[in-house]
Amino acid sequence: MDIPPLMRTLLSKWRLILLVTLAAIITISAALYGVWQLSRSRDFQLFGKIIPRIETTEKVIALTFDDGPTPAYTQLVLDLLREKGVTATFFLIGSDVDAHPEESRAIIAAGHEIGNHTYTHADMTLASEDFAADEITRTDVAIRNTGYTGDIHVRPPYSKKLIGLPLHLAKHDRATITWDIEPESWPEIASDPAKIAAHVIEKARPGSIVNLHVMYASRETTRQALPAMIDGLRAAGYRFITVSELMALATAGQ
Ligand SMILES: [Zn+2]
Repeated sequence: MDIPPLMRTLLSKWRLILLVTLAAIITISAALYGVWQLSRSRDFQLFGKIIPRIETTEKVIALTFDDGPTPAYTQLVLDLLREKGVTATFFLIGSDVDAHPEESRAIIAAGHEIGNHTYTHADMTLASEDFAADEITRTDVAIRNTGYTGDIHVRPPYSKKLIGLPLHLAKHDRATITWDIEPESWPEIASDPAKIAAHVIEKARPGSIVNLHVMYASRETTRQALPAMIDGLRAAGYRFITVSELMALATAGQ
């Protein structure tokens, strides 16, 4: 069948528009995917310092617990750490610190380090500098109100940040603390205490930071994994230190 010339021109025009549109969609998707990957990176950000672990030859490791404190699980976790003689770092949510000051003070009284995990556990990817400053400052105030006098390091929820938060932290000479070991990120590991412990023991390197959640009912397997994880790391020669102690080691080694 013969296609009239006018029709042919229109068809090729539409084909061009379609191709250009497709190319634009692919380019925008790739760019968004790149930004998304960047926003959740554990070891790269656009401004300031990000610390997923520190370089050291000493067999030291930091156990870090995100979220809470919650009345249901704080004491149980503190008892477990005391039995094992482990000092850890708790990245607490500012609003939970205000809601549960007793639990917050119990963590401090047990000698653990407190970190800042934002006030509302917000995804900080699109946060403006002002919003980030507000989330971080309110949490600092909540933590200080409990009487805590130690250094307060910052960990954004889900390790998400892009411009506002890193800018705010860089201006205040504070690092973003992430992690290099995250056993709960794989459902087949997270569902089995023995696998969680084995994963951490296998991945541990001198200066590693382990990301764990123990403050919610859904994290029973992580709580159950702690004794074997701690025993296994000790058997491999590891000593448990806080994030501040880890950072001091990094500074001393520079
Ligand atoms: Zn969190």
